[in-house]
Amino acid sequence: MEDFPMKKIGFIGLGVMGQSMARNLMKAGFSLTVYNRTKSKADGLIAEGAAWADTPGQCAKDQDAVITIVGYPKDVHQVYFNEDGILANAKPGAYLIDMTTTSPKLSIEIYEAAKARGIFALDAPVSGGDVGAKNATLAIMVGGDQAAFDTCMPIFSAMGQNIRHMGAAGAGQHTKMANQIAIAGAVAGVCEALAYAKAAGLDLQGVLDAISTGAAGSWQMSNNAPRMLAGDYAPGFFIKHYIKDLVIAKEGADGVSLSLPVAEVVLGMYQQLQEEGFGDDGTQALIKYYK
Ligand code: NAP
Repeated sequence: MEDFPMKKIGFIGLGVMGQSMARNLMKAGFSLTVYNRTKSKADGLIAEGAAWADTPGQCAKDQDAVITIVGYPKDVHQVYFNEDGILANAKPGAYLIDMTTTSPKLSIEIYEAAKARGIFALDAPVSGGDVGAKNATLAIMVGGDQAAFDTCMPIFSAMGQNIRHMGAAGAGQHTKMANQIAIAGAVAGVCEALAYAKAAGLDLQGVLDAISTGAAGSWQMSNNAPRMLAGDYAPGFFIKHYIKDLVIAKEGADGVSLSLPVAEVVLGMYQQLQEEGFGDDGTQALIKYYK
């Protein structure tokens, strides 16, 4: 960190993930300026020494790097492309890192718009959930230029552990889509196993203890099944965001005539839960589908 040329970071998006990620950057010694749509979510970080900016553009001004982790592609578009947004205000030579899970096409648009201004852009979505964000153990999958990735490694290292350059702009988001597709079967599999065990009259905690260390074990089983058993549906990872991701993945697959039958079924299950008013629950609430 002492030798690292970049010290000043603008950070936009202080939700479930962003708050912890920003805090870990401060702990690593970076100087943070923060912006969020709802200012009160910045209170804790401001008390810990972060500066507040009134707009995304102000947050990006004069920073060595700008990190975003907002909600949807439309939010990313807004904070980057608006008149008082990041692209119009970041200094040439700055590094823009979008860690939102968003569309690969949008990441390429940002990369090209940034390049035209002499700015570097990386798409760097994450996996590991609220727990990984708190513990700085996120997996970070990065698209963009290799040299920009190498320069930003100390920033990534403050937030994650499994940090990989996946290819050109958009490749980070494509990797994240593969991750989201893999989750679909894993989370539904855990729910179906619990639904079956319940119908068979078994002790559900006992079943998890018996099967989670064998071939059926998974991150979903270790982290989300206990929340399902406790009736704890707090996000974690919002159902509404997972629907956003599976829709992006489906659009990408449709574009290359690839069928994703498991992901599509699970998308339909989550869409039904959202229609029933559960979009702000965590993804572990898929168990409600079986009740
Ligand atoms: P979240 O709690 O909703 O956080 C998003 C934050 O961004 C909110 O604080 C929101 O402001 C802010 N925001 C949204 N649009 C904005 C805009 N236009 N301008 C300024 N601020 C804006 O969601 P999250 O769980 O942290 O997830 C963030 C992203 O990471 C999503 O794309 C999600 O899919 C992805 N992700 C999440 C997880 C997870 O486990 N949670 C894991 C991996 C990836 P408000 O406070 O006003 O709502």
